[in-house]
Amino acid sequence: MTSQQVRDQFLSFFKSKGHTIVPSAPMVIKDDPTLMFTNAGMNQFKEYFLGNSKPKHPRVADTQKCLRVSGKHNDLEEVGKDTYHHTMFEMLGNWSFGDYFKKEAINWAWELLTDVYRIDKDRLYVSVFEGSDDADNLGMDKEAFALWKAIVPKDRIIMGSKKDNFWEMGDQGPCGPCSEIHVDIRPDAERRKVDGATLVNQDHPQVVEIWNLVFIQYNRKADGKLEDLPEKHIDTGMGFERLCMVLQGVHSNYDTDIFKPLIREIEIITGKPYGKDEATNIAIRVVADHIRAVAFSIADGQLPSNTGAGYVIRRILRRAIRYGFTFLDTNKPFIHRLVKVLVEQMGDAFPELRKEKQLIENVTKEEEHSFLGTLEQGLVLLDSIIKSTKGKKVAGDRAFELYDTYGFPIDLTALILQERGYDLDMEGFEAALQEQKNRSRSASEISKGDWTVLHKDVTQEFVGYDKLEAEVKIVKYRKVKSKKEGEQYQLVFNVTPFYAEGGGQVGDKGYLEAANGDVIYIVDTKRENNEIVHFAENLPKETSGTFKAVVDKKQRERTAANHTATHLLHQALREVLGDHVEQKGSAVHSKYLRFDFSHFSKLIPEQLQEVERIVNARIDAQLPLEEKRSIPMQEAMAEGAIALFGEKYGDTVRTVRFGQSIELCGGTHVKNTADIWHFKIVSESAVAAGVRRIEAITSDAVKEFYLTNNKALNEIKNLLNNTKDPVKSVVALQEENAQLKKQVETLLRDKAKNLKGDLLNEMQEVNGVNFLAKKVDLDAAGMKDLVFEMGQAKDNMFVLLGAENNGKALLTCYISKELAAERNLNAGAIVRELGKHIQGGGGGQPFFATAGGKNPAGIQEALGKAEDFIK
Ligand code: ATP
Ligand code: MG
Repeated sequence: MTSQQVRDQFLSFFKSKGHTIVPSAPMVIKDDPTLMFTNAGMNQFKEYFLGNSKPKHPRVADTQKCLRVSGKHNDLEEVGKDTYHHTMFEMLGNWSFGDYFKKEAINWAWELLTDVYRIDKDRLYVSVFEGSDDADNLGMDKEAFALWKAIVPKDRIIMGSKKDNFWEMGDQGPCGPCSEIHVDIRPDAERRKVDGATLVNQDHPQVVEIWNLVFIQYNRKADGKLEDLPEKHIDTGMGFERLCMVLQGVHSNYDTDIFKPLIREIEIITGKPYGKDEATNIAIRVVADHIRAVAFSIADGQLPSNTGAGYVIRRILRRAIRYGFTFLDTNKPFIHRLVKVLVEQMGDAFPELRKEKQLIENVTKEEEHSFLGTLEQGLVLLDSIIKSTKGKKVAGDRAFELYDTYGFPIDLTALILQERGYDLDMEGFEAALQEQKNRSRSASEISKGDWTVLHKDVTQEFVGYDKLEAEVKIVKYRKVKSKKEGEQYQLVFNVTPFYAEGGGQVGDKGYLEAANGDVIYIVDTKRENNEIVHFAENLPKETSGTFKAVVDKKQRERTAANHTATHLLHQALREVLGDHVEQKGSAVHSKYLRFDFSHFSKLIPEQLQEVERIVNARIDAQLPLEEKRSIPMQEAMAEGAIALFGEKYGDTVRTVRFGQSIELCGGTHVKNTADIWHFKIVSESAVAAGVRRIEAITSDAVKEFYLTNNKALNEIKNLLNNTKDPVKSVVALQEENAQLKKQVETLLRDKAKNLKGDLLNEMQEVNGVNFLAKKVDLDAAGMKDLVFEMGQAKDNMFVLLGAENNGKALLTCYISKELAAERNLNAGAIVRELGKHIQGGGGGQPFFATAGGKNPAGIQEALGKAEDFIK
C-alpha cells in the first residue's frame, strides 16, 4: 500500500463514520502567543476544548503537519539517531467535540487497524491509565479498560502510568487519560524469545507507539486541581510515517516510500551509500528528515532568521548541514537539491510545496552557503583556541563562545578536539549553556491565574471595524505575570471595539471607563484561543456593571493608514515587478509599515520611484473602502482576492477592496485612500535569498520625515554660505577635495622617497649586518611600505622603526629573509620582546612583524635594545 493510499483510507474511513474532513492547519502558527509550531493535531481545535467557541462540525478528521522541535514536545536530538521520530511529521487524527466518547473512539481505532489496514491482532498492544495516588488521586480508567477487554485479550492490555497515559495540553487546561496503541514489528523468532508486552514504552525501535487516543474529560486549574468538564471530547493522533512503516512491512520509517526517494537522491549527490555504516546512516536520515521540516516551514511563510520561529528553522537546517559536512564530506551546498524530489513526491498532497519550490531552493541554498562559511571560520577560531590552551583540556566557556556567537555546533567541536588529542570540558560547556537557558527562560516565563468568570455563555463580538467606542461588560478576567511585563490583567468583554494583534497589524490601545469616571488603560490587545484578550495594568475597582471602552483614535488611524498603504504597495509591486511577487511577511504599526515579498533582485531606484508613484496616485484617486464582512471563500477567490499560504482561513472570509486592490484581510483600514495623505518608501533591503523588504511611512510620519529633511537641508545651505544651489556647491567641494587628495598623495610619495634614501644612507654595519633603528613620522601602513621598499634596495638588513600615532606606540621590524634564516632571527619574537617597553604586544612572521602599545615614551628604549639581537 502506498503512503498516499494509507492517508486516503484513513480519511475515507472516518468520513464513513460521519466525520467532516478538514484541511491541515499551517505548521507555523502566526497569532498564538503560547505556541510557535503546530505540534499535535489538536492545536487548531484548542478553542473548542476550552469551550470558547462552538465547533461547526462535532466530528472531524484530518492529517496535520506537525513539527516537534521546541517547547514541551522537542524530539530534535533523537531525529536521525532513531528510525521513528521526525522533526516534521504528519499526524492523522479524529475528533469528537462533545459528541461521541470512549466507546466509539476505541472500537473505530481497532476496526481501522485490524479490519481495514489488516494489522495482525497479535502484534498490537493497548495501554490504559492505571490511576494515580498523587494529589489528583485518580482511579484507573475502568471505562476504557472494559471497552478494550471486550475486543483485546487481557494480556495485551498494559497498565500505564501518568507519564504515558495521562495527557495534558500544558500546565493548565483540558486534559484526561489516554489509551495508546503500540505495534510489535519484530520477526517471529524474536517475538517468541522476548514477550512484546515487556518492550512497550521501552524505546525499542520495533515496538513503537503508533496511535494515542486521548479522552478529554477534565480541566486543570491554575492551583493544580482538576474539575470535570461539562462536555467530554475525543482527541486522537496517529503517526502517519510509523503507520506506513508497519503497513509496508519495513523496519524503519526511512524505508517507506515517504523517505526512500529522498535517501536515494542523497546517495547520488554525496556518493555515500545508505545502510552500510551507522554514522553515515544517521547523517543521511538527518538530512532526509530536516529538508522536509525546512521546506514545509518556508512554504508556510516562515523563513530562517535570527529570532523566534525563524531561528528554530535555521537551527534545524544547520543541523543537517553540519551532519552532511562531518559525515557525508559535503563542503558545498547540496541540501537545496533535494527540494525537487520532495516536491515531486509530496506536491500533490501539499500544493504549497510546488508553488513555493523556487523560493525554498533559493533560501535553502543561501543558508547552506553562509553556514558552510561559518563552519570554516569556526575551524580557524577553534585552531586559535587550541593554540592558546595550556594543557590538553579546552575550557567549556571557550567552546560555548564558539557555539553561541558563531553557531558552531558543540558536537563538532568535541569531535575535532578528540581528533587532535584534546579533551573538552563538557561540564563547563553545559553549565554555560544552562545559565543562558535560565536567563532566557525566566525572561519569557509567564504564569497565569484562573479566569474569574462574571458572565457565563456570553458570545463575544468585535465591533471595531465600525466603532472606536462601545458599551461593554467584563465577561471574565485573570491575572498573569511575566518577567518582561510584570503583573498584568487579561480581560475579555462581551463586545469590543479593540482590534487584536493579527495579520501583521498591532493590537489596539485605549482605555476603559467605569460609570463613576474611574479609568484603566488597555495597553495591548491580543487573540488567544479565538478570544479577544485585553491587557491592563490593573483592574477596575468594581468589575461588574458596564464600561465605556475607548480605542486610542490617533494610533488606530495611523495604523489603518499603514495597513491600507500595505495593500496598495502589494498591488503596485505586482504591477511594477510582476505576478511572482508574493507577500512573505508584514508588520503594520502606527509609525511605519514593513512588507516582505518574493523577488529575486534588488529594486533599482526607478522601480522604487514607480512603486511610490503608483501608490500615491491611488491615494490621490480617493478610492473608497469596499468591504465584504462574511462571504464564502469560493466567492472571494472568484472576485480575485489574494490568499496567503500558511494563513488559516475560516469557511467565510472578509475581503477588503480599494479600486483594483482586493485582499483577504481581517485588519482595520481607512475609509478612503485619501486619508493616507502620502506614502513614502524609506528603505529597501534583502531579508533572505529571493525575499526583499520594503519599509515605508504614511500620513503624520511622512510630514515629520519632510520636516526633518528640510531642517537638515537648511543647515547644509547655511554651512555652504547660504548657497541657492546646494547640490552644485557640494559637487564643487567634492571636486576640490579630490584634487587636494591627489596633491597630498604626490607629496607623501615624494616624502617617502626621500625618507627611504635618507634611511638607507643612515644604515650602519653592525656585526656584519646592515642595521638601522629609528623613530619615524609614519603610520603602520606607511612603515610597512617603507621597510619592504628598503628591503628591495638592500640585502642582509635588520631594520626596526618606531612611531607615535594618536598617542599610541608602534614598532615595525624587518629582517632580510636570508639573514633571518641564517642567524635564526625571528622578527615576531623580537617585537614581542621589545613590545614590553611600549606596554603592548604584537607578532608576525620571522622576517616581518609589528607591535602596538600604549606607551610612546618607551619607543626610544625599544629602539635602543634592537642592536642586542644581532650582537
Ligand atoms: P513517542 O513516545 O513515541 O515520542 P508521543 O507520546 O510523543 O510518542 P503523542 O504525543 O501521543 O506521541 O503523538 C501521537 C502520535 O504521533 C504517536 O503515537 C506517534 O505515532 C506520532 N509521533 C509522535 N511524535 C512523533 C515524531 N517525533 N515523529 C513521528 N511521529 C511521531
Ligand atoms: Mg514524544
